Amino acid sequence: MVVMKDVYKKYPNGIVAVNGIDVEIQQGEFVYVVGPSGAGKSTFIKMMYREERPTKGTILVNDMDISKIKNRRVPIFRRSLGIVFQDFKLLEKRTVFENVAFALEVIEETPRTIKRKVLEVLDLVNLKHKAGMLPTELSGGEQQRVSIARSIVNNPRIVIADEPTGNLDPETSKEIMNIFEEINSKGTTVIMATHNKDIVNSIRHRVIAIESGMIVRDEQRGDYGYEN
Ligand code: ADP
Repeated sequence: MVVMKDVYKKYPNGIVAVNGIDVEIQQGEFVYVVGPSGAGKSTFIKMMYREERPTKGTILVNDMDISKIKNRRVPIFRRSLGIVFQDFKLLEKRTVFENVAFALEVIEETPRTIKRKVLEVLDLVNLKHKAGMLPTELSGGEQQRVSIARSIVNNPRIVIADEPTGNLDPETSKEIMNIFEEINSKGTTVIMATHNKDIVNSIRHRVIAIESGMIVRDEQRGDYGYEN
């Protein structure tokens, strides 16, 4: 669960990117975050995984007050989350398998468990047969599938994705969305910032629209609501 109470974020340059947000996202929801460029979507999302700290307000993620936790506790907190980026952020010199396994090695799982879990999630994203390849040998869609596999290998309760289809063509974007749907159908919360109008309008979920750092619309099964 994610709860924000009266949250503000002012960057050191004086820009107020988030200007008083109150929101609750329940376990198991699928939420799109939409709005024009510069509206504050990324900042809103970054505060959920403590990449940015709010200037004011409270943020609870899985009952933990993450506006208060110490920096050294952040890596432990992040283990309860999966995070997916527009640009994948894979380790270029590591194989697909190693990229996914990395998240498990830091929590000291046995090699046997690591292998089982990694192959299980690679199977889910249909990439088991490419486990030994390097990211540079894969298409953009395949790289994003690796990064999704990496994000869920720890069984997080929440997956946060910032423009996950931003670099992908429409067909590949649909494949990626199907994977997020499958993850969500198993009870994982999915929170996704997106500019993908076709997807938001065809696979209906809760839509939170942000403009000038404020929530201007919050609708169940909402539409995209912008021209593009
Ligand atoms: P969006 O994701 O909707 O495009 P952002 O959250 O990235 O919006 O940005 C919101 C506002 O905050 C913009 O005016 C942007 O220039 C500013 N901003 C974003 N990140 C930073 C930062 N690290 N330092 C200063 N200003 C920032």
